[in-house]
Amino acid sequence: MNSSRSAETTSLKRTTSFRFVWPKQYNHNIKKKKKKNRKRIKRGLKWAFKRCVSTLSLKPDAVKRKILVLDLDETLIHSHHDGVLRPTVRPGTPPDFILKVVIDKHPVRFFVHKRPHVDFFLEVVSQWYELVVFTASMEIYGSAVADKLDNNRNILKRRYYRQHCTLDLGSYIKDLSVVHDDLSSIVILDNSPGAYRSHPDNAIPIKSWFSDPSDTALLNLLPMLDALRFTADVRSVLSRNLHQHRLW
Ligand SMILES: [Mg+2]
Repeated sequence: MNSSRSAETTSLKRTTSFRFVWPKQYNHNIKKKKKKNRKRIKRGLKWAFKRCVSTLSLKPDAVKRKILVLDLDETLIHSHHDGVLRPTVRPGTPPDFILKVVIDKHPVRFFVHKRPHVDFFLEVVSQWYELVVFTASMEIYGSAVADKLDNNRNILKRRYYRQHCTLDLGSYIKDLSVVHDDLSSIVILDNSPGAYRSHPDNAIPIKSWFSDPSDTALLNLLPMLDALRFTADVRSVLSRNLHQHRLW
């Protein structure tokens, strides 16, 4: 009995201590497969990482430069011409510059007031976006204003005027597809919601400015514009602000 038990134990010991050894070729194939899988996983991770980076826009270089379309009157400046003294302009407030233009063969002087912080605003956003001026005003006036704001910096080179607008029920609409056909990367800053009626998801509303020297609307927009330039599609963010269009 004892001897048979010890024999059993030995055989069990033998069984438990047995180590299976894969045939060499099989082992080689497994290693090959593992290596292949590791490579595949690595490739997959790399692809996923790249995709995440482009989606989350973590890398500025990976995102194309977007276009910021700027309105002039009551967005960046306010002006009045000879013979008109609007109640919004405080008497005695000196203009930032005076433009002399000829309209219908008549010389007209425009007294132009710059919105507070406009020079700084343009300096900063020109480093983030391609700037485009789009005004419903006449070209002779709009180009002169844009020249003054540009101040030889070459940041307001592309310009669109009244003749590029669509007239609808007496108001001028700015068609952004005239500026760029990819609407995912174009933003318009305009005080008139009617101007961007065709593209509300591309618009940043701003309250009309006439004379308030303590206005900081342009400064307030900088953090938002800084973030917006990294989005894959500006409409995914700006469409969420639709409810605020009436408030701003
Ligand atoms: Mg305007």
